[in-house]
Amino acid sequence: MTTLNEFSRCVAQYDPHALPVSAAQAIVRQWAAPVTSVERVPLRDALDRVLAADIVSPIDVPSHDNSAMDGYAFNGAALAAGGSSVELTVIGKALAGHPFTGRVETTQCVRVMTGACMPPDCDTVVPQELVERTAGGDSARFAGNAVAAGATRRRAGEDLARGQAALRAGRIMRASDLGLLASLGIGEVNVRRRLRVAFFSTGDELRSLGEPLDPGSVYDSNRYTLFAMLRRLNIDTLDLGVVRDEPAAMEAALRCAAASADVVLTSGGVSVGEADFTRQLLHTFGDVAFWSLAMRPGRPLAFGRVWSGERPGAGLPALFFGLPGNPVAVMVTFYQIVREALLLMSGATPQPLPRIDAISRQAIRKRARRTEFQRGVAEQDAHGIWHVTPTGSQSSGVLSSMSEANCFIVLGHDEGDIAEGERVVIMPFDGLI
Ligand code: AMP
Ligand code: MG
Repeated sequence: MTTLNEFSRCVAQYDPHALPVSAAQAIVRQWAAPVTSVERVPLRDALDRVLAADIVSPIDVPSHDNSAMDGYAFNGAALAAGGSSVELTVIGKALAGHPFTGRVETTQCVRVMTGACMPPDCDTVVPQELVERTAGGDSARFAGNAVAAGATRRRAGEDLARGQAALRAGRIMRASDLGLLASLGIGEVNVRRRLRVAFFSTGDELRSLGEPLDPGSVYDSNRYTLFAMLRRLNIDTLDLGVVRDEPAAMEAALRCAAASADVVLTSGGVSVGEADFTRQLLHTFGDVAFWSLAMRPGRPLAFGRVWSGERPGAGLPALFFGLPGNPVAVMVTFYQIVREALLLMSGATPQPLPRIDAISRQAIRKRARRTEFQRGVAEQDAHGIWHVTPTGSQSSGVLSSMSEANCFIVLGHDEGDIAEGERVVIMPFDGLI
């Protein structure tokens, strides 16, 4: 665990008032230490889990040279001897799982099916559609240039050689990985324990589902979005409900969250006016790295560390992200700032989110010196070129813009207004949201 002094030193290098997104990402990355405990799980339970150690192949896959097609296996030396036409005596057959074990002379061949082991002395397969059966079916005849010596054969170890790293530690296990491990005969794997994230919403105006909406109140939607975004990352969640806008209630909730989770996420209560309150609170039993980003939506975002005890360093620590209250800002900050940290803490090797170029169908107002993540609808034209249209409202309170959109339009820190027809970068939601 990094010491408090190191934490403060790291934070002091930056302007905490309007941190560029890239600097915020760099700070967060530094603090995202992976969980260390490891669990051994049956292969099926490994889906979406993070591999704890490299998997080295204990065998060759495939284990033997075998035929890539239905055809006839023979010794490639027969091609040189046979001239323009080759005629070989068929002496037997081999099916997948039923090898032919007899000797095969260069004048002979064996009928083979896809996946059958290459018979002894054979290194070449001629596909059956190039072969004519002659001599009442006893011989196989084909043109001498129909195949090259060694063709149509899958080599032992071609997929994976024994001793080769099949999957690397940090891999988030996908369907193909489960199959790959099964092909190696591996039925159990070591994965990192799941990351545990506690979250709660703050706001006196928030009502939980099932409660009546009195004037001025709104339903708490952030806890549902957060739950879903965390679930997508296969993270253990602890929903601590709605907490009132009151320092004592907030403090109790933060301490309880720090005691039971690796990371604490809150939403609301960090905007101007309230920020000082959250900041003060964090200073008394934690550390604050930054609380304001040069980003829209998502400017008021607090990041630091909280402890379950009464002062910094006492009890159990947890990383803390105080997300803005506005529902779109919650999603944007989650994907741009929080997600990578959660993956790193899960022990994964995160890949950057895919970005592609698109042509903007509209002029877009953009203020320089902050990064904006507008919501857009992108589609490809007949030539494969992407075009994007911003969704109507870009207000950070309009959650329907996220449901309508299929991408973020990423407008960089130093970029200004965008003209219609200008190139912009988009980040597709596919597979993300
Ligand atoms: P705040 O950051 O607390 O000032 O909240 C900013 C805006 O987001 C206000 O309009 C809040 O009512 C709204 N808001 C805050 N938390 C939530 C929530 N959990 N669900 C829906 N809206 C929220
Ligand atoms: Mg609030």
